[in-house]
Amino acid sequence: MNSRRPEIRRDGKDLSKGTLVILSGPSGVGKSSISRELIRRLGAFFSVSMTTRPRGAGEEEGRDYRFVSREEFEEGLRNDALIEHAEVFGHYYGTPRGPVEEALAAGRIVLLEIDVQGARQVQKQYPQAVSIFILPPRPKDLADRIDQRQRGEDESQRKKRLEKASDEMAAAFQYYEYQVVNDDLEQAIREVIDIIQGKIGDRI
Ligand code: ADP
Ligand code: 5GP
Repeated sequence: MNSRRPEIRRDGKDLSKGTLVILSGPSGVGKSSISRELIRRLGAFFSVSMTTRPRGAGEEEGRDYRFVSREEFEEGLRNDALIEHAEVFGHYYGTPRGPVEEALAAGRIVLLEIDVQGARQVQKQYPQAVSIFILPPRPKDLADRIDQRQRGEDESQRKKRLEKASDEMAAAFQYYEYQVVNDDLEQAIREVIDIIQGKIGDRI
């Protein structure tokens, strides 16, 4: 492998044609709302993660996640089929490699909605990735937004998500190139779009 161009792979695919965007932030901060608009307005490719957690109310197989068994996930790990993975709230989450690399080679903007542990693994493999952490305007807003999502989670799941949120927010300034506060959704979407377009502009 060429060490100066780690994005050119053994199979000859030039991943540097695309733009890899890591979007992280605590549960309920608005990542999905922002991603939805990046898909619509920029034609971004959304990487559908694999997870062993059960499907929540309103979630769709193949759109929100690929909901798989622990055995299937572990087989993916053995086959090096995941770019990164993490265990969150006792369940595995991971990013399938094939679709991401294909979309990058096709020159697309590729969105990874992943946690801090996953982001750090991706940054090591793809140093050109743009990393953006979404923050809530006030910590209390997270609790309200988690409730608004109405995924049917119980009190202990809600509490776990809030605890992870404060750990993750501490990492925001350490590991992420950009931080965006999602107070007004439209403004946050525009800031994220400006960051991505700025990166693309720098490369051309
Ligand atoms: P995440 O994907 O980070 O868990 P979601 O995008 O599902 O978060 O948003 C959680 C809830 O908060 C949703 O009900 C969404 O409509 C709402 N929401 C998102 N952004 C804002 C905002 N800026 N102000 C108020 N509510 C918001
Ligand atoms: P949720 O269960 O709320 O959908 O997601 C829980 C956490 O897992 C969130 O922080 C989310 O960003 C993260 N996550 C979702 N998919 C992946 C993935 O493929 N890899 C990693 N590392 N984290 C993920």
